[in-house]
Amino acid sequence: MELTAYMNRLPVLDKGWVWLAGAGPGDPGLISLLTLRGLQQADVIVYDALVSQEILDMAHEAAVLEYAGKRGGRPSAKQSDISERLVELARAGKKVLRLKGGDPLVFGRGGEEARYLVSHGIPFRIIPGITAGVGGLAYAGIPLTDRHTNSAVTFLTGHGADGGLAKDIDWDALAKASPVVVIYMALSRVGLIAQQFLKSGRPAEEPVAVISRATTSDQVVLETTLGRCEDDLKKAKIEAPAMIVVGEVVKLRAGLDWLGALGGKKLSADVSSVRPQGERKMDFDHEG
Ligand code: SAH
Repeated sequence: MELTAYMNRLPVLDKGWVWLAGAGPGDPGLISLLTLRGLQQADVIVYDALVSQEILDMAHEAAVLEYAGKRGGRPSAKQSDISERLVELARAGKKVLRLKGGDPLVFGRGGEEARYLVSHGIPFRIIPGITAGVGGLAYAGIPLTDRHTNSAVTFLTGHGADGGLAKDIDWDALAKASPVVVIYMALSRVGLIAQQFLKSGRPAEEPVAVISRATTSDQVVLETTLGRCEDDLKKAKIEAPAMIVVGEVVKLRAGLDWLGALGGKKLSADVSSVRPQGERKMDFDHEG
């Protein structure tokens, strides 16, 4: 079927509705057809700091673009103001696209916005996006799971309410149970995070990757270890947004860095140095 014909069979963004959609991690090629449909039909697009300009450029030319960015350290719109704005626009009979980086329900407060719409009787649809912890890793050539390394993975936010680490994380349990941990909003807390893992028995030589501006033309990947990551990050110029991956899967990048291969890097299919967590020496019986 022709693409336009297919697009025309997708749901219609009606007046008075809000579509709460994910824009993916950056590369415009990673948005869904439904998000594209929203961009082309919306009267107003309320977007976040992490939504790239190239994606906004796909909007209908008459669409009004409203910035509702929230970004660590910068003055930002209050969550309650953003939610209220969505209700106001919908009540004014607008077709509203609320566009968020990655997936709207992954560390993005999309759930809060949707509940606010519910409590005000505004009809909505949720359109998932490729979250940075999935798409960013794929562009860095790091698998989230691999038969050679792990059968579980954890997504974590490095951001607690008071600027430190989130208080509700049981680091000992995490270190023991989750061979791979992907951490969002962690750039300024790498030292704290590494200390927690080391205290909880993960080895200093455990591989760590820091992925900055994943899937954009500015993507940078730093490969380091739990023991070295804080120092290495200080030396490297790594910009937000960035995420951190802790675990043996980082080693598999040697064979899967397809973006690097485009730039001439030679890939290796040898996985003989890669070990599942259970076979590595761990120190879980520490005190404290
Ligand atoms: N809802 C988003 C996450 C919002 S929290 C999603 O699903 O991806 C913001 C954090 O996401 C950033 O601090 C960073 O850790 C991560 N992030 C988002 N986009 C990123 C990108 N292109 N590259 C690296 N990290 C990214």
